[in-house]
Amino acid sequence: MTQAVVFTGAKLFTGVDESVIENAAIWIDNERIVYAGPADGLGTLDPSIKSIDLKGQFVMPGMTECHAHLSFTDANPFNLGAQSPEEATLTAVRNARVMLGSGFTSALSFGSIHKVDLALRSAINSGAIPGPRLAAAGKDLGVTGSTVDSGVFDGLEQIADGPWALRKAVREQRRDTVDIVKIFIDGEGVCEHATQHELSFHDDEVAAIVDEAHRHGMRVACHSRSAAGVKQAVKFGVDFIAHANFLDEEAADMLHAVRDHVYVGPGIIWELGLIEHCESLGLTSDWVRQRGYEEEVEASIRSVQMMLDRDIRMMVGGDYGISVAPHGTYAKDLEVFVDLFGMSPAKALLCATRDGGAAFDTSGMLGTLEKGKYADLLIVNGDPIADIKILQDHSKFSAIIKGGVIYRDLIHESTFKIAPEAIFTG
Ligand SMILES: [Zn+2]
Repeated sequence: MTQAVVFTGAKLFTGVDESVIENAAIWIDNERIVYAGPADGLGTLDPSIKSIDLKGQFVMPGMTECHAHLSFTDANPFNLGAQSPEEATLTAVRNARVMLGSGFTSALSFGSIHKVDLALRSAINSGAIPGPRLAAAGKDLGVTGSTVDSGVFDGLEQIADGPWALRKAVREQRRDTVDIVKIFIDGEGVCEHATQHELSFHDDEVAAIVDEAHRHGMRVACHSRSAAGVKQAVKFGVDFIAHANFLDEEAADMLHAVRDHVYVGPGIIWELGLIEHCESLGLTSDWVRQRGYEEEVEASIRSVQMMLDRDIRMMVGGDYGISVAPHGTYAKDLEVFVDLFGMSPAKALLCATRDGGAAFDTSGMLGTLEKGKYADLLIVNGDPIADIKILQDHSKFSAIIKGGVIYRDLIHESTFKIAPEAIFTG
């Protein structure tokens, strides 16, 4: 259903750098971009090509959610796997539509309940349901006594101990056609038996997981909060590092040394949601403080500054799909990047677009609006550089385009329901 179309009169953020081009044009032809730049560089067009004047609306690359849990059902985070496979599947179908409708045209999965991601990826790729491009994960992989092994992950955990048992687990994930193997290198403040500073694996276990995954073309994503966890991840070749809350100079320098191919997701929406909404989970502020979460937020702000100083590539996203950070609110991460981490709005946009796109697709086809790349873009009725929060307002998306297919308002079920008189007016 796609075709060639030229958008004129755009305010264009290509994602190549922080600049914005006024009076720009974007020409897409089916799934690819033919041109994106100043209107006067467009040349003469065949008059048969449809042209639409955007009248100053903002055009930017589609964003990448780099720590997605599409099978999470906005449930209490202390009982994540409470849903049956059937319930998790149905909500994942809805969540995929909501994520695309929120302006995220790609998603790196960081763990999936009951392997829901795999069927979800097939359904999205076949066009049966709308959703982001999806790099699918299997269940979380961890050792006995790790955070993964804590009872709140029923349907989400795969436990194995020792290099060969872990290699077998990775091979099982390969058999399931997983793209990303998700492991927990350290723990979590709420988890008494595996805290945020406690390493779960021995070095030879992480080395075995990464080696086995890479030899089968899979990538490895980890949960690493501590400096020691980040160092273990970098040393043994983990591709995506989530959290990195408590960096020290050595860990930051190690990340810098691998900045061309390792990406860090420093999002702290879980911590912020827990601190703000702890009472809805039956917890007191004192308890949350004792578990180290306020300290974790402060440490994260320092760690992100260390990464900014070293030009380490950071991605947005993280753990949306729980009651304190529900699906559909993903763009809150960009607000956090600006307000708490001190990035410029344009820099936060680059994390969400250029850097997330490069993390998702190593062949360089995503994340920026340039000739020959996939036509994944957003048309926004407003200026995210002036107000980054506008990306949280779904009503401001005039269109969300993925692979040249144009969508609008995927969020509100009400748009599917029509008034009786509309039956005959079409
Ligand atoms: Zn997660």
